Amino acid sequence: MALVKCTECEHVVSDKAAACPRCGAPGPFHRHHTKVRLTRPSRFISSIAPFVIEVDGEVIGFVLNGQTVEIERDYGFTLYVYVQRHYGFIHHVPAGSDLYIEVSPGLVGIKGRVWPAARDQASRGSTA
Ligand SMILES: [Zn+2]
Repeated sequence: MALVKCTECEHVVSDKAAACPRCGAPGPFHRHHTKVRLTRPSRFISSIAPFVIEVDGEVIGFVLNGQTVEIERDYGFTLYVYVQRHYGFIHHVPAGSDLYIEVSPGLVGIKGRVWPAARDQASRGSTA
């Protein structure tokens, strides 16, 4: 069983559900492997505060200088990285994405760069 999103109301449901428990839309609901690699470069050592990582409004962890965090879901989601609630970077990750996101402190808050992971691998010569 995997958790996916209802195509009508975006409620998180089982991919085996006969219908969405919230809105009644008929299942089955399809999985969309969705992956984000979130990196915070190590060169910004002047800022040591952990960046909070939120997925669809739920805190799932933190990212520190030099760290990379992988986020995988079976559905698209909203990613929010912040220090304080109004100093953050928001990205809506479509279902089926494979993204590389670099976040760093800006003059005010956090800024982010987003690109497809495949392009990142090509530009860096990675064989991963
Ligand atoms: Zn629904």
